[in-house]
Amino acid sequence: MTSKIRVALRSGLFAALIAAAGVHAEEEKYPTGYTDAPQLPNSPWRVHDDNRPRPRVVTPGKVDQLATPPSDAIVLFDGKNLDAWRSEKGGPAGWKVENGYAEVVSGSGDILTKQKFGDCQLHVEFREPLPPTGNSQGRGNSGVFLAGLYEVQILDSYDNLSYADGQAGAVYGQSPPLVNAARPPGGWQTYDIVYTSPRFANGKQTVPGYVTVFHNGVLVQNHTQLLGATVHHALPKAVEHDINMPLKLQDHGMPVRFRNIWIRPLVEK
Ligand code: MG
Repeated sequence: MTSKIRVALRSGLFAALIAAAGVHAEEEKYPTGYTDAPQLPNSPWRVHDDNRPRPRVVTPGKVDQLATPPSDAIVLFDGKNLDAWRSEKGGPAGWKVENGYAEVVSGSGDILTKQKFGDCQLHVEFREPLPPTGNSQGRGNSGVFLAGLYEVQILDSYDNLSYADGQAGAVYGQSPPLVNAARPPGGWQTYDIVYTSPRFANGKQTVPGYVTVFHNGVLVQNHTQLLGATVHHALPKAVEHDINMPLKLQDHGMPVRFRNIWIRPLVEK
């Protein structure tokens, strides 16, 4: 969702919580889910449904981190600089780069790749802040936006109750991860993503898009159909777009770190 909507939502929610519970301003709490959002198509659940069962926890095994990219991969971040990226606000990416990682700088904005990509295999490593702060969607929130539109959620989902379709590895607001494979905060985690862009003709979608995601080597999205562009607290939005689009990483105001990002564009047979 846009930062404007997010700010409005957060401040409205915040005020309501203060009034209702008398909580101190520094103890803003995020809801663990909603019961008033629209019903997802072909699903018994609403968007961000607080009643939807949370995925069971799976402890991931040892995964090859800082894996060397395959020979035909395009390296998007090797720990040195964000030259392959730009800020959504214009100009260079405003995130901090140090010690081999990039860290979200709150308020600096989402970052987008300068190059555009369609169908692809994508590897991303991320680290949740330690010690953890905040709750639900307020804990370690970021995201990988495929085509800049479809969010594979990044969240500290370790021992953190939040709605199923907002957990780490969710297609945000659409599809919860099959299981919760989150590692504790402070450790590096991996996403391996396969993205197939939807196809459009004459203003209509002719073939849906799909995403497959491994979180720390554990399958969490299995050829999941994309229902539309990611939004908050509403049905996914139909957006016609080119096959090739920038990849986007989210500034959700929390200091999530990234390293070792590479992509392999998939050529149509
Ligand atoms: Mg996010």
